[in-house]
Amino acid sequence: MGERATRHRGCRASLALTAVQEARLDQQAHAARALWNLLHELFTVAGTRRPPLSYVDGEIRWARASLDWLAMLPAQAAQAVLKTYRRAWVNCWEGRAEAPIYKSRSRTVPAVDIPQARDLHVTRVHRRWGMVNIPKLGRVRFRWTKDLPGVTKGGPAGRITGARLIRDALGWHIVFRTEREVQAPATRDWTDSHVGIDRGIAVPLALSDGGTYEHGPWLTEGEEARLLRAQQQAAHREHCRRRGERASKRLRAAYDQIKDLRARAKRRVLDWQHKTTSAIAKGYVLVAVEELDIANMIKSARGTVDSPGVKVAQKTGLNRAIAGEAWGRTVELLGYKIEDQGGVLIHVPAPGTSLRCSECGVVTPGSRESQARFVCRNPECGWSGNADFNASRNIDQAGLVLASAAGRAVVRQT
Ligand SMILES: [Zn+2]
Repeated sequence: MGERATRHRGCRASLALTAVQEARLDQQAHAARALWNLLHELFTVAGTRRPPLSYVDGEIRWARASLDWLAMLPAQAAQAVLKTYRRAWVNCWEGRAEAPIYKSRSRTVPAVDIPQARDLHVTRVHRRWGMVNIPKLGRVRFRWTKDLPGVTKGGPAGRITGARLIRDALGWHIVFRTEREVQAPATRDWTDSHVGIDRGIAVPLALSDGGTYEHGPWLTEGEEARLLRAQQQAAHREHCRRRGERASKRLRAAYDQIKDLRARAKRRVLDWQHKTTSAIAKGYVLVAVEELDIANMIKSARGTVDSPGVKVAQKTGLNRAIAGEAWGRTVELLGYKIEDQGGVLIHVPAPGTSLRCSECGVVTPGSRESQARFVCRNPECGWSGNADFNASRNIDQAGLVLASAAGRAVVRQT
């Protein structure tokens, strides 16, 4: 024991901005998004398939000097956009994500990065307030909800490594990136406390002990209808808008309504994810999940859109968008919560988990009777059950094998 570990976390706090500061931050976020689109145009319209990403530094310097709107964006934030854009391509080339696309106004969360912590000068000024330097805005107050590492005497040791400013329907927030040296929790024995989790088709999360975690729709029927109407209005008004003309008041109102409803849904998703992952992290020592394959997830989501059933085309696309990112965040939250509890999260390679029988271990053709039901065709077995449950049991078994091979604790032999 006595082992130390470095822990990285995000810590979110709301900012108290004046109207002027808020307008400036809006402009910065707008500039960051426009810069992304500019970079994207440089690469895609130029027709280079694998752009030499290094030469853009010069392009950015040129653009900052000659484009007024871009000069509003602090240089470090512009560099951060470039870095994210580069990473997006690398992720694409390495098969983790699809190619980057243009960021549209209505679908992009306004955000500005502050990559360097030395620009921040965080201090605590009151029991409930802290102060932070925001480039081109000056000192800004933020709500002090959690003790930030390395700021106050007697507070947690560690440091802030950077921050990101994000706007949702409730206004601007700052998310501090923190790094702390902590006591590594004692490794626990998982022999009697392991579980496999399948991101199910019939239920959001199916557990290998038979448990499930479910949720209702993220928006009520009324909210979903309002979102659809706002999206149709925005599309219509965009269509009527002449080139170069400013967005009308009514168009902006439609955009705001879309953003508000999306933010509401996202808060509900996040809330559910936090509750669920906390319960799982407390309940089990060894948790196995399928390895993330974002590219495939996006493809399968698209498949359902390309061959839509009745009225699918009329839906708002909200649930599809959320499902795409929800699993990634669930796994991320699970990862750090389990680590905090001294447990282990294992990523299991996906192939076979949904096709193999979890009772006899044999893959037989036609065993997947339907999306929801699994029937083993092995004459000596014949097990049948819920398909998600079957997959979660396979994931659990694979997790046990991998974990004992990794030797992080000895699995008892019986
Ligand atoms: Zn079987």
